[in-house]
Amino acid sequence: MRKKLIAANWKMHKTPEQAQSFVSALLPHLWEHTRDEIVLCPPFLAIPAVIEATKDSPIGVGGQDMFWEKEGAYTGAISAPMLRAVGCSHVIIGHSERRQYFGETDDTVNRKLRAALAAGLKPIVCVGEVLAEREAGVTEDVLRRQCSIAFREISGGEAIPMVVAYEPVWAIGTGKTATPELAAEAHRTIRAVAAEAFGEGVATQLRILYGGSVKPDNATLLMSQQEIDGALVGGASLDAKSFAAIVKW
Ligand code: PEP
Repeated sequence: MRKKLIAANWKMHKTPEQAQSFVSALLPHLWEHTRDEIVLCPPFLAIPAVIEATKDSPIGVGGQDMFWEKEGAYTGAISAPMLRAVGCSHVIIGHSERRQYFGETDDTVNRKLRAALAAGLKPIVCVGEVLAEREAGVTEDVLRRQCSIAFREISGGEAIPMVVAYEPVWAIGTGKTATPELAAEAHRTIRAVAAEAFGEGVATQLRILYGGSVKPDNATLLMSQQEIDGALVGGASLDAKSFAAIVKW
């Protein structure tokens, strides 16, 4: 039985004050919610405020990105040990916006993933096809390539804390969602690659989230699918009520 994980990706939204107000508005909805694991991923500058505001709650906090080196002359970068030092438990790696706007590649995703696991963070690794790839019928090849490169040089034991998010790029921020059948098919491909890389036991336990325009009104349909182990939520995670409604799908 895989516990579902619902993660909020705030992207470049919210100051520390706004983040704190969000948590104050969210907590009353979720005090007794133990069915799912909940993680908030604010922008770096708001992380300490969210850690402080969630400190007596079961809500985890994660970064939206990190660099693979521990420290050094890497202007503008934040490392995995730095995220750990302020109290982060998770980190998003390889989000399609990082791939599209910041030059992230399958290889840099692998380097970041290995560094995150080595630092004791739980990485949420994002994969997914763009519209042209879906239309060309190569979704399975794309997912196989993204996952097999991301999983390189990681042992089954090391992979245990990892989570994968299947995010079809054409569904992110567009209001379009994959049907449960399309998502389940993609999740089966990802799990098959994980089984080849890490063995059946680890692959069976691997949580694979769905991301792409998850909203309160489609959360129940998506989250009740056996193959979908939770959600990575962008736009609808910015409002406490709407995020709480998704968590309580
Ligand atoms: C995301 O950015 O990970 C995402 C899924 O965004 P949205 O929910 O807005 O589509």
